[in-house]
Amino acid sequence: MQYVSTRTSEHRVPLSTALQQGLAPDGGLYVPASFPEFSMGDFDGCETPTAVAERMLVPFFAGDELEAELPGIAHDMYGFSIPLRQIGDRTRVLELFHGPTAAFKDVGARFLASSLSRLNRTAKTPLTILVATSGDTGAAVAAAFWKKPNVEVVVLYPKGRVSSRQEKQLTGWDRNVQTVAVRGVFDDCQRLVKQAFQNNTWHDRKRLSSANSINIGRLLPQMTYYAIASLQVWRETGEPAHFIVPSGNLGNALACIYARESGLPIGDVILATNANRPVTSYLDNGEWEPMETVETLATAMDVGNPSNMERLRDLYPTVGQLGEAISAVRVTDEAIQAQIRRGEEKWGEVWCPHTATAAEVRDRLDTNATAAKSWVMVATAHPAKFEDIVEPLVGHEVHVPDALEQVMKRAHPAPEIPPSLDALGEIVLGVDTPAE
Ligand SMILES: *Cc1c(COP(=O)(O)O)cnc(C)c1O
Repeated sequence: MQYVSTRTSEHRVPLSTALQQGLAPDGGLYVPASFPEFSMGDFDGCETPTAVAERMLVPFFAGDELEAELPGIAHDMYGFSIPLRQIGDRTRVLELFHGPTAAFKDVGARFLASSLSRLNRTAKTPLTILVATSGDTGAAVAAAFWKKPNVEVVVLYPKGRVSSRQEKQLTGWDRNVQTVAVRGVFDDCQRLVKQAFQNNTWHDRKRLSSANSINIGRLLPQMTYYAIASLQVWRETGEPAHFIVPSGNLGNALACIYARESGLPIGDVILATNANRPVTSYLDNGEWEPMETVETLATAMDVGNPSNMERLRDLYPTVGQLGEAISAVRVTDEAIQAQIRRGEEKWGEVWCPHTATAAEVRDRLDTNATAAKSWVMVATAHPAKFEDIVEPLVGHEVHVPDALEQVMKRAHPAPEIPPSLDALGEIVLGVDTPAE
């Protein structure tokens, strides 16, 4: 399998190159050059999530230097369960929040950590991953790379602009993971990362790479939980699964679409968005225009210019084609609050604000014929991560999962810097963090 840039179709690289570069040299995003055509029988005997994941990823690893490592990588990626539970008539929930940082981003981060660590096994200097985060991504990347050999991570977060639980998740690490609190906003953190990439001193001292959501290494592993869930629905009902995916930067939804392209038994894919409207507007009026980001209760979906739109439009070049492949529904903060308030009564579930958008979409389907299908709501995070929002609405405390508790217990204050590359350099380049 080769990976092609969305901007120059002649530019093709093997998987390992795409994983290490992140972005293609022409500024485009890497996409698979083709999709395999699986049939259900191909997954006979695959009884565990790891087995399904490994089977599904075989063609995507074909011919790459990581090919022989796939079993180990598939094993590293799912060190936790991904339950698909029936919670109502023709309604299931796919819980993607049982990993160390209690959100689906753990799956992609763990795949990337395992792959990059293996690729750098014999490197003389470790690979340094720089991540700017507004909360969830940085925590997932830190957790995934912690104690992995031959890779180190520097996480930058805006001091005072993440929730206290998010801050604890970002700072519960040591050894090859360094967290730095930047006195500024998320954009300052992102600017520092870009400056470091362009700076000669940094280049001389570190081999830099990134782990943000434009990396194809986040999408490939995410396809596998759609394979696992849709095969389970297929085995139970003989019908395809229809997914409702809470979406912001569109990486999770795209993984679902890629799984469907690969022949998995997936029917409708509905994107649940928050009040941010780039996707719904595009589908409505056919004009693609990035927008200012609107702040909502589902903060991890606050994206005005989703970068994976470039991949989606690569697959479906016209708005007509896209409209046939997916639909999208916008959900307001009021509806998110109402869904969290009613979640326990209606479904016996406490939703996080992101998952609540999917619950709202599921509710709206009841009024039309599409209700007669097997629906899967994708639960992207555990509600305990957003206790400030969730607890007042449900009227009681939300139990914190053990994995999350463990991370937060280790939290310690991170060094604080002004938003300048010099200050970051003093901390990061001054200290060499030997890998284990
Ligand atoms: C990142 C995130 C999303 C949005 O996923 P995309 O792949 O960016 O569309 C939704 N919910 C949670 C909890 C997230 O962390």
